[in-house]
Amino acid sequence: MKVLFAIGEAAPFAKTGGLGDVGGSLPAAVNKVRGEVRVILPRFSTIPEALSRQIKPIAEFKVDLAWRRQYCGLGELKYRGVHYYFLDNEYYFKRDRLYGYEDDGERYAFFCRGVLESLIYLEEFKPELIHCHDWHTALIPVMLKEFYHGDPFYYELKTLFTIHNLKHQGIMPIYTLGDLLGLVHRERARVSLEYSGSVNLLKGALLYADALTTVSPTYAGEIQNSFYGEGMDALLRERQDRLVGILNGIDYEDYNPQTDPHLFANYGSLEQKTVNKKGLQQLLGLPVKEEIPVLALVSRLVVQKGLDLLAHILEELLQEEIQLVVLGTGEERYENLFRYYAARYPEKLAAAIKFDESLARKIYAGADLLLMPSLFEPCGLSQMIAMRYGTVPLVRETGGLRDTVIPYNRYTGEGNGFSFANYNAHELLFTAKEAIRVYRENKEAWQHLRQQAYETDCSWEQPARRYVELYCQLIDES
Ligand code: ADP
Repeated sequence: MKVLFAIGEAAPFAKTGGLGDVGGSLPAAVNKVRGEVRVILPRFSTIPEALSRQIKPIAEFKVDLAWRRQYCGLGELKYRGVHYYFLDNEYYFKRDRLYGYEDDGERYAFFCRGVLESLIYLEEFKPELIHCHDWHTALIPVMLKEFYHGDPFYYELKTLFTIHNLKHQGIMPIYTLGDLLGLVHRERARVSLEYSGSVNLLKGALLYADALTTVSPTYAGEIQNSFYGEGMDALLRERQDRLVGILNGIDYEDYNPQTDPHLFANYGSLEQKTVNKKGLQQLLGLPVKEEIPVLALVSRLVVQKGLDLLAHILEELLQEEIQLVVLGTGEERYENLFRYYAARYPEKLAAAIKFDESLARKIYAGADLLLMPSLFEPCGLSQMIAMRYGTVPLVRETGGLRDTVIPYNRYTGEGNGFSFANYNAHELLFTAKEAIRVYRENKEAWQHLRQQAYETDCSWEQPARRYVELYCQLIDES
């Protein structure tokens, strides 16, 4: 079983969110079960120098994009047992960020065509399946069928497309269908890629890939209705027999409270979390008090993460005897919201408006409760990382949050977190107050709850097996 993972992010080379975690951990998890997954991603100039230096060049070729003929370098690196390939073109990838540029469509169209061209140069590794992830790689299934159809080298190659977030679809102006993709005269491609007067790359993948997955069973169902479907629900319903939800996992070696070098103190039992809590309070300038519950938010600060709910009740929440720690970057209005409240309640709210991996881990280890009131959440990794560090998640019941967090039942003691159903600010507030009450008034119940969170299996073990089954099934189909 030979699978090539084409992905826009893979930690530690590139990461802006959960996609980077998956790219950096699922391949190794699959390799442990069966076969071989190798990974291909752009050679961003932001790859840490110490790693970038080790990439060995293996080939150079040209990549066609309509009238363009672009240079493409191919490099390789074996890192922690996984074989990585990098596509290099400084014009496209020598930039400060991974995305957010006018020509993102062109950059990732180049990447997709480059991936297909590079296969010829991967010595001793002829993939049977390309596993594509999100819109950055959406053109791979389309280009494979349009440009390589009939080429014996590509004849049996299958594609699997995973939706990590349906919201991001890769929208480009309609003229790019001809000017960039060279597909304007191909009827099937034109119809498949066109959406609402624009080119929609994700839509193309949903129609061209041999099979589709998304990152939790609940999200797989949700995206087939219009509230979560982002305009793609009808199409996903049509393809439902080719769509499955497989929950993400996290890397248990990397996220391990017993060995994580970023923590104030490593721990193998939850009583020892206190050192991390105190360290965190001190680091962030909050009063060092063990008895005060520390709530945390580690998140991109965007609408998806349910920040409108939090904004609505923040003042009221801060009347409680709590501390709130926020780590995130994103939309300015949310950044300013947290800056404002941090200035107003310096004893209660600490806001770090930045991306900081080390601080994130200190928070997962030091906090008592992690808030994730998401509007939608395909899978969500933060709640899993929190549980791994013995921090209790409080989530809205959507997508992967619903599949991983079992609400606390005060009568039976069951559960590994707290949850609420409706996208309603006061449901969030009441649930937070309930959590704070349990923390304060029922120590035994709280310890039991966080122990259950700590023992929740969020590893890749089961999901990796599901991927292997699916890979084999697809490769065997004729
Ligand atoms: P998403 O992929 O939608 O951003 P996930 O919960 O799936 O959300 O994954 C988020 C990942 O990014 C987690 O590993 C989380 O710890 C990390 N993360 C988010 N914001 C920050 C930040 N400001 N600093 C460090 N890590 C962050």
